[in-house]
Amino acid sequence: MTYDNQNIFAKILRGEIPAIKVYEDERTLAFMDIMPQADGHTLVIPKVPATTLLDLPADDAAYTIQIVQKVARAIEKALDTKGIVLMQLSGEAAGQTVPHVHFHLVPSSIHDMRQHAAQMGDQDKIKALAEKIKQAL
Ligand code: 5GP
Repeated sequence: MTYDNQNIFAKILRGEIPAIKVYEDERTLAFMDIMPQADGHTLVIPKVPATTLLDLPADDAAYTIQIVQKVARAIEKALDTKGIVLMQLSGEAAGQTVPHVHFHLVPSSIHDMRQHAAQMGDQDKIKALAEKIKQAL
């Protein structure tokens, strides 16, 4: 699929719009979701331009999932959560709204999560949660 380099996550990666970051290395970025489905909702993205999971080169997929695991551990430690939902919407038909592949880490239960991309979170609260997660990394 053709990659749209004007998508919001591409802009975050280029530093054109801000994000509350928790982790970054040369291949991945983890940052807080602006409309969290639970406190601590974090997104992990590979830096390579790929729209869906199916567009992601296998070695980037393998690397990114290791960072997903690393951030999940930090979330669990920082927020003392009992479980984390790992969610990946691949393609508009699945409900994907931002066309740069990303992994959602939602510290909640599938039965309790708030609606997807529906309501802006409290930015100060999100920043405080991000600090805790960063410290646990
Ligand atoms: P998708 O529907 O593509 O799986 O998920 C996109 C996610 O990105 C949603 O959970 C939505 O809340 C989040 N999101 C949308 N725009 C922004 C933004 O500008 N910044 C951040 N940090 N998250 C965003």
